[in-house]
Amino acid sequence: SLSPHSINVTGEATGFLPAPGSRGKPITVIGTEAIRGSFDAKCLEQAMNSRGAPGVTDLVLNPDAHAGYGAPVGCVLVSPTHVYPGPVGVDIKCSMSLLALDLPADAVADKATRRALINAICERTPTGAGRGQRTARKSRHVSPELGKQLVVEGASRAVCDALGIPPAWAERCEDSAHVGHDHTHAALGLRLERLLAGGALPKFDDKMTQLGSYGGGNHFGECEAVEIGDNDRARKAAETFGLRDGGLAFLSHCGSRGFGHNLASGQFRALQRFFETWGLPLPGQDKELVYAPLGTPEADAYLDDMALGANFATVNHLLINALVLEAFQEIIPGATGRLVYFISHNIARREIVDNREAWVHRKGATRAFPAGHHALRDTPFAETGHPILLPGNPTAGSCVMVAEPGADKSCYSVNHGAGRAKGRKAAIRELDQKTVDDEFITHDILTNCRFYPKDEAPAAYKDFNEVLRSVERAGLAAEVARLRARFVIKD
Ligand code: 5GP
Ligand code: MN
Ligand code: MN
Repeated sequence: SLSPHSINVTGEATGFLPAPGSRGKPITVIGTEAIRGSFDAKCLEQAMNSRGAPGVTDLVLNPDAHAGYGAPVGCVLVSPTHVYPGPVGVDIKCSMSLLALDLPADAVADKATRRALINAICERTPTGAGRGQRTARKSRHVSPELGKQLVVEGASRAVCDALGIPPAWAERCEDSAHVGHDHTHAALGLRLERLLAGGALPKFDDKMTQLGSYGGGNHFGECEAVEIGDNDRARKAAETFGLRDGGLAFLSHCGSRGFGHNLASGQFRALQRFFETWGLPLPGQDKELVYAPLGTPEADAYLDDMALGANFATVNHLLINALVLEAFQEIIPGATGRLVYFISHNIARREIVDNREAWVHRKGATRAFPAGHHALRDTPFAETGHPILLPGNPTAGSCVMVAEPGADKSCYSVNHGAGRAKGRKAAIRELDQKTVDDEFITHDILTNCRFYPKDEAPAAYKDFNEVLRSVERAGLAAEVARLRARFVIKD
């Protein structure tokens, strides 16, 4: 049970006592009573191990939390002195992006139009593990040189121009480019050459064919009808974000594909070997919670690899959005659109926490800076807060939120979705295929799947509305828009 170990900030329960597993340090928990009951033992153990780990000053458990790799998916870990690869995860910079289309929702009322859009998008941005570019992508060929440039520079002007990405979209990114441990791009160039020379990365040109693709599993593209909240605040934020009530938008979820996975797993192996060689104690005896103190060669290497993977993910999302827009233009001539925002839920960022610079690791968690936050100065979102993009599930919908000043309680973070309620195996065992597929028919949502994957069915996820209630009751963020799926593209 959580209540004796944690500070709960939904206003339903208060107070905390030292928890043995977290060495007497409090954990901030965001969750209504129903949500707090959804955390399994493994998830709580991971939270306590993470909280008690060296250099960790804050740990937030979000309502979508469930067991992950070392740390729960759905947590925030803050350290001014250490980096932790587990609380970033194997899919470095897995992210959400939202493209607003200048089309009314009823432009896709017709099933044949939606089917044509699904085909046009799949032709350009293939799904599926390991799958890469297809023929429709010839115009955006990624040479090994361009590949190297984009993982070093991120979404620079030159990279955007080379790939046909509108350069203005770079301003609609939480981070359009990541630098190395010494704050330079040059460090990334050097690191990349070393990785390639040492054979730590597979042949570069092969991996680059995955640029502009979703990959498998939980990653998806989804066409959405937009419903703006019925209040002035939501309307004002929606206007700044570029979202129109009754309009169409396209939501994308993916990360750094095979490239990021290679970097992350290489880091886990290297750090685990280091801990073993020197007989270092592991937090909670969990080898997934390896870490490196800032300033060491190990931390530098991790930060460089994370940045390389993050740059791939950034350009991957921007290219996907450019390709999705191109697909809409093929099926609905004259369609225009622009990026609303691109924001990660698997990344460590250098931020100011309690007047001190720290690495904020968001693992299945989304940054939530409210209006007036210093880091939003000189961005389009200084007066509203930035868009928070939260996938729920296709049938319950997804949502766009904006942070409240109360988000300081959670290290300026919220959840990243509904969160898993059932493990993949349990979902496959327990759910009925026909019931899963019928739910899509009832909601008039088309998909590219002949049978919707049961381990990805809405019933495999937590109650999204209860998750959102947890966020709102804790005063972290408010809803700006609901997104209602019209079609889903999934592996
Ligand atoms: P992740 O896989 O990054 O941990 O989870 C992202 C979140 O996306 C999940 O918690 C779930 O709420 C949401 N999600 C998963 N599949 C879909 C989908 O097909 N459509 C929508 N709208 N949300 C999804
Ligand atoms: Mn993700
Ligand atoms: Mn991912």
